Amino acid sequence: MHGFNDETKELGEAILKYAADRLALDPVPLDSPRTVAELDAVASGAISPEGLGGAAALDLFENQLALACLSIDHPRYLSFIPCAPTREAAMFDLVVGASSIYGGSWLEGAGAVYAENQALRWIADLVGLPATAGGSFVQGGTIGNLSALVAARAAARARNASRPFRVAATVGSHSSISSACDVMDAELVQVPVDEDMRLTGAALRKVLQDEGPESFFAVVATCGTTNFGIIDDLQSVADVCEEFGIWFHVDGAYGGAGLAAPSVREKYAGIERCNSFIVDPHKWLFAPFDCCALLYREPALARAAHTQHASYLDVLTDAPDWNPSDYSIGLTRRARGLPFWFSLVVNGTAAYTEAIEHTLEVTRFAESEVEARDYLEVVRHADLSVLVFRRLGWSPEQYHAWSDKLLADQEAFVVPTSHDGETLARFAIVNPNTTVDDIRAILDTMA
Ligand SMILES: *Cc1c(COP(=O)(O)O)cnc(C)c1O
Repeated sequence: MHGFNDETKELGEAILKYAADRLALDPVPLDSPRTVAELDAVASGAISPEGLGGAAALDLFENQLALACLSIDHPRYLSFIPCAPTREAAMFDLVVGASSIYGGSWLEGAGAVYAENQALRWIADLVGLPATAGGSFVQGGTIGNLSALVAARAAARARNASRPFRVAATVGSHSSISSACDVMDAELVQVPVDEDMRLTGAALRKVLQDEGPESFFAVVATCGTTNFGIIDDLQSVADVCEEFGIWFHVDGAYGGAGLAAPSVREKYAGIERCNSFIVDPHKWLFAPFDCCALLYREPALARAAHTQHASYLDVLTDAPDWNPSDYSIGLTRRARGLPFWFSLVVNGTAAYTEAIEHTLEVTRFAESEVEARDYLEVVRHADLSVLVFRRLGWSPEQYHAWSDKLLADQEAFVVPTSHDGETLARFAIVNPNTTVDDIRAILDTMA
């Protein structure tokens, strides 16, 4: 089965055609989940000693399984944080798969690592990090945050004999911060947010002083919280981190992309002072799953924490090369930054700025439209491209029934969220193909 013959060639052409046809759909079908029993009925015997053969296997995926997967790039998919890859990035993912590249080390993947580092540099420049900054692309924000916090703790413990074990963040920080603390057996201390739901230096200073600043190894600020898109007061948080000598990590998994948008750039003031930063290009930077850019101000601190040592790795670790695996949890690595890099090279960075600004404009339209309708109410002004709003008079069941019906009708995928125990409606707009007409049509269904 490792050979290449006419049958393999034919299958290759069919797969490429399927991929090209999928990318040509406009709009893509939204599709919907199916139950295990429904999928069993069509796919249970798929793996067999004899094999199904290429045509039947592709047919099974195309006509059954793919239809049971939501198209996260649908313009009316506004739940969670969607993903809207450029065609160039999505197509290049096929190339990465076909190329058998090991992305963990320079020795094995120099060309790919070089390209990924170019893409990381573009992001580092947006943040304002020095030329010496660097990192790697990891699976997602969860691994990115965990890797950064592991580096932060190792750096703190290398600096002094005490064993700091705490991380400070807010309730708005992503669930992955809490899960990283669990994995690390660290304690997450919640800093109360201000009246605008942001982390501020003043509240942080009080918590650090009350709990003992020497017990903390990191502070996590968020630029673009997942639920509301809130950007913390990074400048005052940076001041306090500097005052106490604590690692300042900024989680921009969703909102970091806004750094490329001049209309909101000033809201990120102070971000350039971070010790580490993440952004998921698979969220608002139009890369396919899964892709998180992880950056460190001082990469040597991350290397000290993450480099794996073993006799069979000496040939890699003894060289002065840039090995992406040295900057995160994990050793074997797909060159997952390449699709993002390719799209940046093809389209140019100005196209990214334009696309992000467009989603911000559509969000501003949504906010004004919500304000204009007497049955709706904005819960908090949108800092970025997430809008949380209320349908006056609706019970939680009504929100859920409305959302279920939208999907059942293949109209849209908009799941409710909650805040302070209240069920609410939420749009996350990261797809440049989402139009003001889409927004109007969805809001009409709530009348
Ligand atoms: C999505 C998100 C994460 C987690 O990223 P994954 O790629 O889903 O692992 C972390 N932080 C924030 C703010 C996010 O929005």
